[in-house]
Amino acid sequence: MAEIILLSTSQKQELIDITDKVNSIIRKSEIKDGICNIFAAHSTGAIIINENFDPNICLDLLDALNRLIPSGIWRHDKVDGNADAHLKSAILGPSETLPIKNGKMDLGKWQSLIFCELDGPRVNRKIVVTMIGDKN
Ligand code: ZN
Repeated sequence: MAEIILLSTSQKQELIDITDKVNSIIRKSEIKDGICNIFAAHSTGAIIINENFDPNICLDLLDALNRLIPSGIWRHDKVDGNADAHLKSAILGPSETLPIKNGKMDLGKWQSLIFCELDGPRVNRKIVVTMIGDKN
């Protein structure tokens, strides 16, 4: 069973908490216990799990990535100028897989599921949520 989330982003780089959206999709699926995979179908976006209670962590992550991977110095920049976004996306990865327990993602107390926009703003960023499990 799979559902699609379409996100529009408003900034060049942006971390968007999608925990509630994904939990609502799981609730509608009626799956109580199982596994879900959340996959961003893009080469300049990523899916991560981290803390969003202090939103500065998301900003710190972007700062750290930008210090590690500066823009404008890579071969692919000659094509469309966004090599740094591809590199950051490859390092963070396009998906996360996690358990479903009691009808929602079994995240740790301080964990959130986050979509990373690394070359925005964009419309219709596609995130596929695939779920398997038991409904009882
Ligand atoms: Zn590119």
